Amino acid sequence: MNGTSCLNSFLRDELKAKLEKVVDRFNKHSGPLTTVLVRDACFKQIYRRGDYRIVIYNIPGNLGATQYAGRFVYVLRGYAEPDHGVLTSEQASKCLARAKEDLLAIGTGADVLDTYRKNFGDITDDPDIGPAHFLNCNGGGELPYERTLTLLVHEVTHLDTKGNCLYTTYGSHQVCFALSNDLPSSSIATVAELFDSDDPYLQKLSKAQRLYLFQFNESNRGPAALFNELNAYTAGLQVSAGILKTKGTHGMLDKGGHPEPQMLPLVMLWTVKYLDEMRAENPDLYSSSFGPSTDNHKSVETLLAHGEDAYRDWNAQLAAHKLSAIPSEKALWQQYLDARKELEHPQS
Ligand SMILES: [Zn+2]
Repeated sequence: MNGTSCLNSFLRDELKAKLEKVVDRFNKHSGPLTTVLVRDACFKQIYRRGDYRIVIYNIPGNLGATQYAGRFVYVLRGYAEPDHGVLTSEQASKCLARAKEDLLAIGTGADVLDTYRKNFGDITDDPDIGPAHFLNCNGGGELPYERTLTLLVHEVTHLDTKGNCLYTTYGSHQVCFALSNDLPSSSIATVAELFDSDDPYLQKLSKAQRLYLFQFNESNRGPAALFNELNAYTAGLQVSAGILKTKGTHGMLDKGGHPEPQMLPLVMLWTVKYLDEMRAENPDLYSSSFGPSTDNHKSVETLLAHGEDAYRDWNAQLAAHKLSAIPSEKALWQQYLDARKELEHPQS
């Protein structure tokens, strides 16, 4: 790859420390872990920590770099995921081609991959950086291939997002926001009931809540990350529903024969709760940034409408296979619907 610089060591260490924290949160072993450098290719470094693989890389040619204070800053990206073996570039591009074919057959998500290739052609087939690493290509991963197809579309939807505009699988392929710097932290959306529940699904969501509303929020405090997740979970769930519709349940159920509980109801609840809380706390700020006549308002409505469609479609496909969401997920969905009603027609 031409014009690609080595990793800036200060930023690398900063990102590495963040990813190590994420690994430690999910790691099953007790006792402290150490991070070992496995491969250093200058523009990308690969580490191992416990059962996880940490990859940190530069975007080639500074694509995606943001202009800050009049000069370019490095944009480092990285991820941590359970280590599921090494792919060659050839295997990676084959696996991506298979995924694209499957997405075309399912009828949603293929454009997400096309857009990524358009934006990041140089790295698309890189086995560590390109999207193939999300897929269970060689069968060595924890999740079945089908479920990783959903994960792929979720993650690449994030990567296709540019600046203030989310990449969408529908419409003109973008939904934009203009968010000022004085918006409250997304932690105001906290669903307190999650923290002391003994329901396993809600406990898992409680972990996610800590991560999404607090930990991921240290640098970006406003609601942008919420909207971003809502959009990505919608795109992913469209794929899951499409798999059930066109290919059946293979790879989509757990060992007990149940569908994986969904994140989307909670993400939608967070979004609406955020707006409800903000309106109650600071009506003026709410009406100037999210009031009915604002573009932000329209964008939120669009995201929620498509999220609702995706979730209803998923449930319809479950019903067609004589399956259903677990009661605590249904209850969360109801909580979302109530919160949305409250947002549209405030009681007070
Ligand atoms: Zn996400």
